[in-house]
Amino acid sequence: MATHTDPVCGMKVDDQKTTLKSTYQDTTYYFCAQGCKTKFDEKPQQFASQQAGR
Ligand SMILES: [Zn+2]
Repeated sequence: MATHTDPVCGMKVDDQKTTLKSTYQDTTYYFCAQGCKTKFDEKPQQFASQQAGR
């Protein structure tokens, strides 16, 4: 089991409980709600950049 941070709203998401995910630049992002995924899919670079730095 692993938790991921929803890049849109910052919530913790359990990857075994959600089917909402997107892959961007070889990284998989998980979302708490369809609305978050939709926002990410519209502007992935905007949200993905906030998690970069590693
Ligand atoms: Zn969310």
